Amino acid sequence: MEQFVYLDNSATTPVKPEVLEAMLPYLKAEFGNPSSIYKKAAAAEMAVAEGRRQVAAALGADPSEIFFTACGTEADNWAIKGAALANQAKGKHIITSQIEHHAVLHTAAYLEKHGFSVTYLPVDEQGIVSPDALRDAIREDTILISIMMANNEIGTVEPIRELASIAAEKKILFHTDAVQAVGSIPVDVKELGVDLLSLSAHKFGGPKGVGALYIKKGTKIDTFMHGGAQERNRRGGTENVAGIAGLGKAITLATQNIEEKRERITALREKLIAGIMETIPHARLNGHRTERLPGNVNFCFQYIEGEALLLRLDAKGIAASSGSACTSGSLDPSHVLLALGLPHEIAHGSLRLSIGEQNTEAEIDYVLSVLPDIVKILRAMSPIYPG
Ligand SMILES: *Cc1c(COP(=O)(O)O)cnc(C)c1O
Repeated sequence: MEQFVYLDNSATTPVKPEVLEAMLPYLKAEFGNPSSIYKKAAAAEMAVAEGRRQVAAALGADPSEIFFTACGTEADNWAIKGAALANQAKGKHIITSQIEHHAVLHTAAYLEKHGFSVTYLPVDEQGIVSPDALRDAIREDTILISIMMANNEIGTVEPIRELASIAAEKKILFHTDAVQAVGSIPVDVKELGVDLLSLSAHKFGGPKGVGALYIKKGTKIDTFMHGGAQERNRRGGTENVAGIAGLGKAITLATQNIEEKRERITALREKLIAGIMETIPHARLNGHRTERLPGNVNFCFQYIEGEALLLRLDAKGIAASSGSACTSGSLDPSHVLLALGLPHEIAHGSLRLSIGEQNTEAEIDYVLSVLPDIVKILRAMSPIYPG
């Protein structure tokens, strides 16, 4: 039988059966518009309220602080543009990092074209943003700091609590893109001390096309999506009721027994990392050795191209990625790997295997049984491999 091993859980995850079940009523009989006042719409309105309670409970927030969006990208855009525009009278300087997702980096670049100035903090060779570097970058006119909680390519988990406390000391708003973190590691907005936090359902067993932005009570932020009075006048657009029901169910399931799941997935990660290091020469593990998402494995295999590796893995039924899903297809090396200080030729040969809840030890064994030979074959074909 043909093997299929899905190891691209950082790109997206399969929708859990219970999540689909939670969504179906709102795609069938309960099709009402949550804003309508007749009885038929009550179920839809209740589903949105329940989804909001579930997301708030998972994050340690109040339901009034949760706002639904169409995706993680929209949550990042809203947080950054909304905070920048609402606070520009105080200053027009924003701080972020060089390894953010493009949803943050391209939003920051857009604001630069519109009169804001942005500092892109470097990271160390393991991908960590230094709290001292953040302190040094803060200016009189800094109004917003946006640092991701966990990196989507290399899995490095940033010291958000420490970074956010520096921002709080200086009364600067702090946003974190927690799209990779939520459902993988514990995320509590009060404990972290953040003002704004983005998440996306499809990264933890929910459907695509729905996300949320946590906005701490009292945070000054402009509306991003102008329209109707939905989301308490702050985000127009008829709610994605089925998506919100799915998001609520998915975040509830993903955050249950999170420590147990984290341990199990970390054990699979460590087995995969150890197996690769033992069997493949010139393999470099990217990202932090321990401050790392439980399911993230990212290697550079010197002398080969990431794309060629992906095609051969695909032929063996293994779905993985090189760089991030959004940039594969372009031949530019990953901005994240370049920020770690890797030279272009090495950054091209990267492989990300991201493990999810559904993966098994047998699947890891299977990857370890085919990957070393694939690397060997590709190197034998490479004109630059010294042998
Ligand atoms: C996937 C991802 C996003 C974008 O989320 P979408 O819901 O796909 O728009 C943003 N940031 C990070 C870190 C991600 O991994």
